[in-house]
Amino acid sequence: MAYDDQNIFAKILRGDIPCTKLYEDEFALAFPDINPQRQIHILVIPKGPYLSLEDFGANASTEEITGFYRAVSKIVQENGLSENGFRAIANTGDHGGQEVPHFHVHLLGGEPAGKMVS
Ligand code: AMP
Repeated sequence: MAYDDQNIFAKILRGDIPCTKLYEDEFALAFPDINPQRQIHILVIPKGPYLSLEDFGANASTEEITGFYRAVSKIVQENGLSENGFRAIANTGDHGGQEVPHFHVHLLGGEPAGKMVS
């Protein structure tokens, strides 16, 4: 599957659709999920055009991968998720329930995440 630059997160990255920026650097952007599933629900996306966690790990540069995961840790710390913990989810493909075909990590916290799979 080819990357579709009309996906909603690509539009957010281009500034065509607004978001509330919680964090931004050269490699990553973070913003609240529009439909939060827990008290804190943050999406972290890489700046590059990667479809999924699988695509990112296989095809992104070492610099992009390091930069992205360093950003994830900063976002965790800056949003108070370190002390009580959080859940990180990367839905991938049809069986993973991925709706937006641009790699993203959900960070869920502020309350217990509950069972891993319902
Ligand atoms: P996934 O099912 O993992 O692809 O999740 C996509 C997520 O993007 C969902 O949790 C949506 O609520 C969220 N979402 C869709 N559009 C927006 C938007 N414009 N701003 C913030 N979050 C969004």
